[in-house]
Parts: sequence; C-alpha cells; structure tokens
Amino acid sequence: MERIYIGMGSNLAAPAEQLRSAVEALARLPQTALVGVSAFYQSDSLLPGQPRYTNAVAALDSELAPLELLDALQAIENQQGRERLERWGPRTLDLDIVLFGDRLIDEPRLNVPHYHLQERAFVLYPLAEVAPADLRLADGRVLKDLLAACPFVGLERLPQN
Ligand code: ATP
Ligand code: CA
Ligand code: CA
Repeated sequence: MERIYIGMGSNLAAPAEQLRSAVEALARLPQTALVGVSAFYQSDSLLPGQPRYTNAVAALDSELAPLELLDALQAIENQQGRERLERWGPRTLDLDIVLFGDRLIDEPRLNVPHYHLQERAFVLYPLAEVAPADLRLADGRVLKDLLAACPFVGLERLPQN
C-alpha cells in the first residue's frame, strides 16, 4: 500500500463538476482507498486564451502499480470526454500522478515526482492540504521548501468543493 497524490484539473464543461465526478471515480478504483481531497482552487490558464482552470489534489492509498494507476487515470479522463487535440490545450479533465509513495519514476509514459510540481502553485497549495507539512519527496526535496519558493499568486481558493 502506497500513498499517492493525484493532481486534478479542468477548464471545460463545468470544471468543478468534472472534479467532483473525478473524485467519485477515484474512490471506485480497485485496490484503492480515497484518503482525502483538497479544496478546489481557480486560476488563470498558463497559456493565453483558455478558460480559467479549477484544480485540486486527491490523496489515495493504493496497491496498484504506477502504470496500472496511470492507465486507470487515463480511462477516467477519457470517460469524462478528454480530447487530446493540442499539447496543453483546454480539457474537461486532467489527472496527473504528482507523487507515488517514495518512488522516483523516469519512464517514457511516467515521470514521478511530476516534473513541473515545483513551479505550479495550483498543485503545491492543494497538495499541502492533504499531505503532511514535513513531507519529503523521493528526490529529497521537502514540500514546505517548495511552497516557500512558490508564491500563492493568482490562486483563488473556493469556499466549497
Ligand atoms: P503536463 O504534464 O505539463 O501537466 P498535461 O497534463 O497536459 O501536461 P497530458 O497530455 O495530460 O499532459 O499527458 C501527456 C503524457 O504525460 C501522458 O500520456 C503520460 O504518459 C505522461 N506522463 C508523464 N508523467 C506523468 C505523470 N506523473 N502523471 C500523468 N501523466 C504523465
Ligand atoms: Ca497536467
Ligand atoms: Ca496529464
């Protein structure tokens, strides 16, 4: 059993509703328990001309292997109408494996810890709500140091999920 953190994002077709559906789908994964969900956060898209994003992080305990989990997450994205038209294009649902226990994974389909974690306030701040403050990543970095280096700018924490 390993503790896993999933970054969730949506900027199409009622984003908060997409995240609520994704949380339900995560809770139904085999050999997996949903441990927690952060608040939802809104922010402007990093790329111009896209709708605002809603993001959150979910914590799971799972027996699934990393690539099994990635397959399951991509199936959930597809069920919720994810279309891959352009890189970083707008999407109904994006599910990223941010952290997977204390594993370092560097494979063609899977890179963990997620490679942009340290730059993304919309991942770090929700992650900090569901992870211990002293969390040490598999590569030795400490979550609170990443937070200290990534200002809470442009994020709006929603009062309700
Ligand atoms: P970004 O990776 O910058 O957040 P994105 O989420 O929009 O961009 P996608 O189009 O959703 O990118 O995914 C592209 C590929 O990234 C996936 O097919 C998957 O194989 C790969 N990938 C690598 N590492 C991860 C990870 N930690 N979680 C999810 N997918 C990953
Ligand atoms: Ca992503
Ligand atoms: Ca993704």
